[in-house]
Amino acid sequence: MLSITKEFSFHAAHRLHLPSLSTEENVRIYGNCAKLHGHTYRLQVTLAGLPDETGMILHFGTLKGIVEREILNRYDHADLSDLAEYRHLPATAENMAEHIFRTLDHALVSKRFRLERVVVFETATAWASRSREESDYA
Ligand SMILES: [Zn+2]
Repeated sequence: MLSITKEFSFHAAHRLHLPSLSTEENVRIYGNCAKLHGHTYRLQVTLAGLPDETGMILHFGTLKGIVEREILNRYDHADLSDLAEYRHLPATAENMAEHIFRTLDHALVSKRFRLERVVVFETATAWASRSREESDYA
């Protein structure tokens, strides 16, 4: 399998909590992440496919434009809890990887390549990834 990966970074705040629980219960579950704080997130986007006659699966600049338009323009310097997708869902790295994968999968439609993987780094040593599954082809 041939693939390309581009990495992005953005700054964002979040506060992990479940509205149905008390503050004490949220602190017990999420620890310090129950308080408003920020991260410098890193996002890796991998496309798998075949190069066209130019020798590219997709121009890195084109991929950058799509990720900026679909994700970064809204996520950078935002409180993620303000975004519609995390209003009722905690902005954990896991939920972010799932949501970003689904969003980019709709924006990256091609017969030659497909979105293969999204990785969201919350810190340098902690990340979540979402890879394509068989059920995604249905
Ligand atoms: Zn956090």
